[in-house]
Amino acid sequence: MPTSPSEPVEAPQSARYDLAVVGAGPAGLAAAVTAADLGLRCVLLDGGRDTGGQYYRHPAPGLGAARPDRLHHGWSVYTGLADRLAAHERAERVRFRGGHQVWALERTADGFAVHVTRGPEAADRTTVPARSVLLATGAYERQLPFPGWTLPGVVTAGGAQAMLKAGLVLPGRRIVVAGSGPLLLAAASSLVTAGAEVPAVVEATDYLGYARRPGVLAAVPAKLVEGAGHGGVLLRHGVRLRPRSAVVEAHGTERVTAVTVARLDAEWRPVPGTERRIDCDAVAVGHGLLPQIDLATELGAATRTAPDGAVGLRVDARLRTTVPGLWSAGETNGVGGADLAIVEGELAAHAVADRVPKPALLRRRTRLRKFAELMAAAHRPGPGWTGWLRPDTDVCRCEEVPVARIREAVDELGAGDPRTVKLLTRAGMGWCQGRMCGPAVACLAGPGEPGPDRRPLACPVPLSQLAAGPSGEG
Ligand SMILES: Cc1cc2nc3c(=O)[nH]c(=O)nc-3n(C[C@H](O)[C@H](O)[C@H](O)COP(=O)(O)OP(=O)(O)OC[C@H]3O[C@@H](n4cnc5c(N)ncnc54)[C@H](O)[C@@H]3O)c2cc1C
Repeated sequence: MPTSPSEPVEAPQSARYDLAVVGAGPAGLAAAVTAADLGLRCVLLDGGRDTGGQYYRHPAPGLGAARPDRLHHGWSVYTGLADRLAAHERAERVRFRGGHQVWALERTADGFAVHVTRGPEAADRTTVPARSVLLATGAYERQLPFPGWTLPGVVTAGGAQAMLKAGLVLPGRRIVVAGSGPLLLAAASSLVTAGAEVPAVVEATDYLGYARRPGVLAAVPAKLVEGAGHGGVLLRHGVRLRPRSAVVEAHGTERVTAVTVARLDAEWRPVPGTERRIDCDAVAVGHGLLPQIDLATELGAATRTAPDGAVGLRVDARLRTTVPGLWSAGETNGVGGADLAIVEGELAAHAVADRVPKPALLRRRTRLRKFAELMAAAHRPGPGWTGWLRPDTDVCRCEEVPVARIREAVDELGAGDPRTVKLLTRAGMGWCQGRMCGPAVACLAGPGEPGPDRRPLACPVPLSQLAAGPSGEG
């Protein structure tokens, strides 16, 4: 359901939206259609072209994929939501606007001004007025650097999934999958099913953390079935699972040709003498996901830290953030997967419409959130990972800042927090604005949990659009 970028999206003051939903992934899509079912006038905005978000990522139209469902679990859940959206669009209860990246939210006397960029021209800026906003902007991947991680052929685990789902391509033929978190099993299973060879899945934990709360596990049988399904696929393809291990170096000159894998101790310190080399032409690596919450933290929304150190928004049982009129659903409240995102989208829509949801929906959320917390605790990065860094390993790849410069800022220049490290070294000042290097810099800067992301602009915005003034005219 793409929209032309030139199509206007502003509602006249008389037709101010009841709800602007930012992000059309599982959470935002479910929220928009449920809110419309309940009689609200909504606009659903996404920086991407289509609905679906990260989980239901579509093949690019030019590829002519005949069976996109084969790349996804639960594709019928997505098509059900998309059909409901189409019906609401026809009835003019919801407007979906793809290619609309929200760069800031602003409180107004009677709600919010949602500032959007649709492209590079001054005229591509627009502002959407809405009484309430629901944030469903998902998450991005946590990266922990290692020597060689900037070589071509090293991609993120989610990036490998995205290449496959959107581009129908593999990052290589022989791909080592590494890092920590449930995404590794999903990625490895998709890669082998699509014809790649996966010589190893290298997971930094031992999965024993899941066994600490058997009751929580037993309450989410579908998750167990999903995990077992991935396990079965990996077993059939002879994929070796290496728990308590990490890729501590990628080798190659033009691109990656091999990795060194080492055993880790309980703190994720590499154990000397356990290194082994695995030939490969690609590495898909990720260490979990981090909620994308900068639009809300800029408004002062309170946050909470999950057991894996990821900072998400603090919401109450009705999915309200601490900013009046601002709701949040899905990964923005802490990473928990697509099923939880859909449930939270539906619950948030009920809350915005001031309706009481079915108790079963509330119970389902409780079960899935508890599982999300268990998952986060099971995959919490250990502090010893910095043991595989070398002085010349780039930490900030945008600004090419190596470990040695960050250690110098901390040990010799007295920087005790990530912000001071950034000011002294430029780490985090590049295009990604610290999304890639932020967790690593925070860890190298010293003890203490990283604080919430603060970015006044949630994405790059041309100066011409900023100069156009608050209302976007001109
Ligand atoms: C790269 C990646 C790959 C993943 N792959 C898998 C997988 O293979 N299997 C699996 O089980 N889980 C996967 N996940 C996790 C899964 O995608 C999530 O659990 C699920 O999609 C959460 O739904 P959501 O609606 O909360 O967020 P998302 O699906 O992430 O949707 C968020 C949406 O918000 C939009 N958005 C973000 N910021 C803005 C903005 N400022 N303005 C406008 N729009 C914005 C994004 O374009 C996106 O469409 C992946 C996550 C990532 C980050």
